Amino acid sequence: MMKLIKLFKPYAFWVVVVFGLLFVEAMTDLALPDYMSNIVNNGIVSGDTGYILAEGGKMLLVALLGAVCTIAVGYLSARLAAGTARNLRHDVFRKVERFSNAEFDHFSTASLITRTTNDIQQIQMLSVMALRFVFYAPIMGIGGVIRAVGKSSNLSWIIAVAVLVVIGFVLVIFALSVPRFKRVQKLVDKLNLVTRESLTGMMVIRAFNTQRREEERFDEVNRDLTRITLFVNRIMVFMMPVMMLIMNGVQLLIIWIGAGQVDLGGIQVGDMMAFMQYAMQIIMSFLMISVMFIMLPRASVSAQRINEVLETEPVIRDKEVPARFPEDFKGIVEFKDVTFAYPGADEPALKHISFTAKPGETTAFIGSTGSGKSTLVNLIARFYDVTEGQILIDGVDIRDVSQHELRERIGFVPQKGVLFSGTIRSNLQYAKEDASDDELRMAAEIAQAADFIGDKEAGYDSEIAQGGGNVSGGQKQRLSIARALVKRAPIYIFDDSFSALDFKTDAALRRALKRETGHSTMLLVAQRISTIMGAEQIIVLDDGGIAGIGTHQELMKCCDVYREIAQSQLSEKELDA
Ligand code: ADP
Ligand code: MG
Repeated sequence: MMKLIKLFKPYAFWVVVVFGLLFVEAMTDLALPDYMSNIVNNGIVSGDTGYILAEGGKMLLVALLGAVCTIAVGYLSARLAAGTARNLRHDVFRKVERFSNAEFDHFSTASLITRTTNDIQQIQMLSVMALRFVFYAPIMGIGGVIRAVGKSSNLSWIIAVAVLVVIGFVLVIFALSVPRFKRVQKLVDKLNLVTRESLTGMMVIRAFNTQRREEERFDEVNRDLTRITLFVNRIMVFMMPVMMLIMNGVQLLIIWIGAGQVDLGGIQVGDMMAFMQYAMQIIMSFLMISVMFIMLPRASVSAQRINEVLETEPVIRDKEVPARFPEDFKGIVEFKDVTFAYPGADEPALKHISFTAKPGETTAFIGSTGSGKSTLVNLIARFYDVTEGQILIDGVDIRDVSQHELRERIGFVPQKGVLFSGTIRSNLQYAKEDASDDELRMAAEIAQAADFIGDKEAGYDSEIAQGGGNVSGGQKQRLSIARALVKRAPIYIFDDSFSALDFKTDAALRRALKRETGHSTMLLVAQRISTIMGAEQIIVLDDGGIAGIGTHQELMKCCDVYREIAQSQLSEKELDA
């Protein structure tokens, strides 16, 4: 609740305006029954048409004023709630953008999506209601009681009874629906997860003919969600007629008992009618407050879920006063006894890694899958922080500089090529928005992508589908490489980026790279010995540790792991070369 109030802070002025309007509206609503009782008591009873018209006219004006306020409040509160929801979405998105991989591993993508959409919508719905009810209902309730008692204190007990019945009834509904409301958000999460997995894995699902199983998985979650939503909605549907019954019963009771009193001359007919309307207003205001209380738990679950995201501090943070790299940046990458374990993992994924990668040289990493190659290069871009030891670039610990400054110097080609929807041009310009056509062409040439881009009718303006679905794996890799090259970074990291290329393209690409980016520090993860044979330094990883460092010739002589990999891939003749 406090958080909700804080959300409205930027709109304080408009909130005050809404409250002002609501106050006027409440006053008009409270005044109307009075006019009516005057008309009945003094006009109709004595047959004074002039008085009826005059009072009736005033009553109409007051009602009109109330109506204008209602419309204005509806308009303003909808805008305010939409505005706060927008701000909240913005905050959540900005936070998520700053998340490091550790936080992404913690929250599932599906859950983050639900939190930015559905959960925020819950808050928005509650805000609209809260803006109206929180202020209006108490005024109506208290004002109604004061006025009703003024009209007839003899009948007041009826209101007390009615309010007690309403509260009792609402408590029952509360007990039934709140625990279920809380589960709804979790189920929405799950539904999103299953849907996402099915949609992204559609090809695999078809290939394995597991549509039936996936459908069942989906149906199960869908059924749970439907059941619980139905239940909650049925309760709500049940609520309306019961409330009407209570209200009509109260009216009946007032007329019944009131008529007797009118007969005895204890109360005027008009006052009795006004009393009846005040009684309705009081019950309505209690109802509004109760509905708020029913909505509150669901929204507060949503609020907590959003808060969880907002309050998660990324484990990878910039220093308050970040250091800078030296003016004359060279790009010497040095690992000093680095050990790293993934959050929550027992075994470290990397153990005591030390080496230095120099500018103008290629440092290659090879090893079986799961040996820690990707983990190692991800550490350089600081997607995770080292557990022990240090990574230095030009002698500066990478944790001391800002993430922006660090990544500014790195051209990173991830293991899984990711393209964004747009055109080839927009993807290549990703690192450098103002890159000229020449720069793009140059990068594409080096990445061996120029040919297939040229073959396309629209060339650089060819559409790229969501996730790069309309280019082949190898083309995706080459575009990812070109994208990194456009950046002209002093340090390049290629994480297994050549694996989907045929040997010929692989070789041509490496030659072009050597020629054009020879002065950069090149860190290259590869599967194929032929890709890395020419590297100045090859690091053999085995189960998270270094099994050998050296050139191809050196390693062939002294490193068993390396020799095994080489022998499995190359012919005798190639090995001797
Ligand atoms: P490679 O790239 O050499 O195939 P990785 O660096 O991807 O290997 O993985 C090294 C080890 O770290 C593997 O045992 C893998 O299971 C583990 N690992 C990789 N990513 C994560 C992660 N996000 N959370 C936990 N463990 C991980
Ligand atoms: Mg890998």
